[in-house]
Amino acid sequence: MTKPALRAVPSAPSGPFTLPPLPYPESALEPVISARTLSFHQGKHHKAYIDKLNAAVAGTPYAEMDLLAVVKKTCGREAKKSIFNNAAQTWNHTFYWHSLSPAKTEMDKKLSAAVTGDFGSLEALQQLLTKVATEHFGSGWAWLVVKDGKLQVVDTHDADTPAAHGATCLLTVDVWEHAYYLDRQNDRNAYAEAVVKKLLNWSFASDNFARAQASA
Ligand code: MN
Repeated sequence: MTKPALRAVPSAPSGPFTLPPLPYPESALEPVISARTLSFHQGKHHKAYIDKLNAAVAGTPYAEMDLLAVVKKTCGREAKKSIFNNAAQTWNHTFYWHSLSPAKTEMDKKLSAAVTGDFGSLEALQQLLTKVATEHFGSGWAWLVVKDGKLQVVDTHDADTPAAHGATCLLTVDVWEHAYYLDRQNDRNAYAEAVVKKLLNWSFASDNFARAQASA
């Protein structure tokens, strides 16, 4: 299998916002995530967030902004909740597609050393991420982030994203039911465990970690 080109940073186009292509074919993540799930998830759910975002920002200054700037500027503002939800879900999903890889990936030396320092081992990090993803109550996301110079596993509710709260995101696992229900019904743990063990893109995480270090 040729190594897919996954090193590009998720695009952050200014509005009107567009659905970026998946960085691999829809069937590439099988059997962990089926082509049917990926087709609905990206082609329907992700696209719907972008369509709603474009409708909500039409004619406003947000339409001219970088996507992450829209997320940060609308975070925590009740009157802008719909824009925030759709902008954050647009950003989160593009980040999620890049957090997954059909090919085996490895951490670089710097991230590997940080994982050992902050979690003890890669296995301990994988167990924690799986637990947080499985136990998150309701819809949301489980993340590996860097905040205040330390690697952390965190979860966010609904559309919320650590990128709006001063953290640099390294990897994410979508734990909304639409991410796994077609394949595994209510067994979120089986989905989370398989994604964390088999699909996470440690090369992408390493690139994000290097960027966090460079801007610290
Ligand atoms: Mn989703």
